[in-house]
Amino acid sequence: MARYRDANCKLCRREGMKLFLKGTRCTSEKCAFDRRGYAPGQHGQRGRRKGSEYGLQLREKQKVRRIYGVLESQFHNYFVKAARKKGITGEILLQLLECRLDNLIYRFGFAPSRKSARQLVKHNHFIVDGHKVNIPSFSVKTGSVVSVKEKSRNLDIIHSALKESGKGVDIDWIRLDKVKMEGQLLEVPTRTQIPVLVQEQMIVELYSK
Ligand code: SF4
Repeated sequence: MARYRDANCKLCRREGMKLFLKGTRCTSEKCAFDRRGYAPGQHGQRGRRKGSEYGLQLREKQKVRRIYGVLESQFHNYFVKAARKKGITGEILLQLLECRLDNLIYRFGFAPSRKSARQLVKHNHFIVDGHKVNIPSFSVKTGSVVSVKEKSRNLDIIHSALKESGKGVDIDWIRLDKVKMEGQLLEVPTRTQIPVLVQEQMIVELYSK
């Protein structure tokens, strides 16, 4: 399945919540969801229907997929991996997504959004524990240190993202050193430490049918 290339704001309006896909714009008055909170399209203003149980489960899955910018097949693979592990499948699923390199770059504040983080990773701007990594889905291990490459330390996008970082939710499971431009994953977050407002149990139910 191809990557979504239409306007990101439509996704928030479709899901009926802010997914924070566009960096600082999301907290500004330009946010399309704040201005037009109804669903996109001709019938969007008619209001949202409650939908079937399946429909609600599907929406929760789509929300998570869109927040983390993961394709359908990749997302299913994450679910399969989570289901194989001991513990609460929904929580493990979110933990796997949180440990992705692109997500952590965003969490550290090196990029304004996960989409930009993905692009920066692909363009070889980061190293993990001293090794070059340009795979956005790379799973970062507890204790690993992610740093901005020496030659990329002057990039405007990273500096302005860092300036804005820390204004949002306080995240205590990562450590950021703005001077050294490096971040560390201190521990895998528990569900309550993951600031994502979704009902992941509904995703488990969807895939368990
Ligand atoms: Fe969603 Fe608003 Fe950000 Fe657009 S600006 S992606 S509508 S949160």
